[in-house]
Amino acid sequence: MTMQNENTRDDVLLRVENVSVRFGGIVALDGVSFDVRRGEVRGLIGPNGAGKSTLFNCLSRLYQCDNGAIHLGDTVLSQQPRHRIAALGVGRTFQNLALFRTMTVRENVLVGTHAHHHVGFLKDALGFPGAGRAAREAREKAEHAIDFMGLAPFADKVVADLPFGTQKRVELARALATEPSLLLLDEPACGLNHEELVGLGDLILDIQQRLQMTVLLVEHHMSLVMRVCQRIVALNFGRKIADGTPEEVRNHPDVIRAYLGDEGAST
Ligand code: ADP
Ligand code: MG
Repeated sequence: MTMQNENTRDDVLLRVENVSVRFGGIVALDGVSFDVRRGEVRGLIGPNGAGKSTLFNCLSRLYQCDNGAIHLGDTVLSQQPRHRIAALGVGRTFQNLALFRTMTVRENVLVGTHAHHHVGFLKDALGFPGAGRAAREAREKAEHAIDFMGLAPFADKVVADLPFGTQKRVELARALATEPSLLLLDEPACGLNHEELVGLGDLILDIQQRLQMTVLLVEHHMSLVMRVCQRIVALNFGRKIADGTPEEVRNHPDVIRAYLGDEGAST
């Protein structure tokens, strides 16, 4: 048994501390702080333009914070070069799909594992002669992710030929194949039908329980967020307005106001 303070610290995988991001005159994030505990599904909600994707882009180092810091375990994530982020255990999907449309499902998923390896690796992994052990392992991880996502029947299909819902699963498989400790999902339910939405909820819980990953979920679909998240952060205009259990956040007056205001606004 370690000291209680240390235990509390160990429970936290990601710590976002006072993060601010500006684009010219726009303050996209304004001193945002919250943490993500190991093993939880953490929700991040807020109306359009609240700063959710900007925060994800800071986490994956596509954007630079103007202020504050982001810690992943003992690593200061906000000081790492972008190319190290996947190797440090952060996987993500994008709000707008970012797949190689003319490549097959398997190739796309393998590209995810490529983030950990050297330049010739993808060629090896795709079955060129002399494939090394790393390439073989990557292929196994990719197959595992493809199976987990129910994509085996489509593995050799070109992504552009698949329905949108399936493409979204390919993107998720690609993120899973890197076996991230922290998985960032940016509006995974966007554009899905009702049945797919229910399936996505089951899948996120499966990722948490069977794959033991920690998930940070940006999502507009309240029913999904409320169902799968243990704790939720709400942003509005770049500021944190609520942080707590789904029940607490749903009933928070500022959250209710932010969403009603959003609905009523014309822009
Ligand atoms: P959300 O994902 O919550 O809808 P975003 O993080 O995409 O919100 O955007 C937050 C704010 O930052 C918006 O006002 C948006 O226009 C602005 N913003 C985001 N990315 C950029 C960028 N690359 N350049 C300029 N403004 C940006
Ligand atoms: Mg967004």
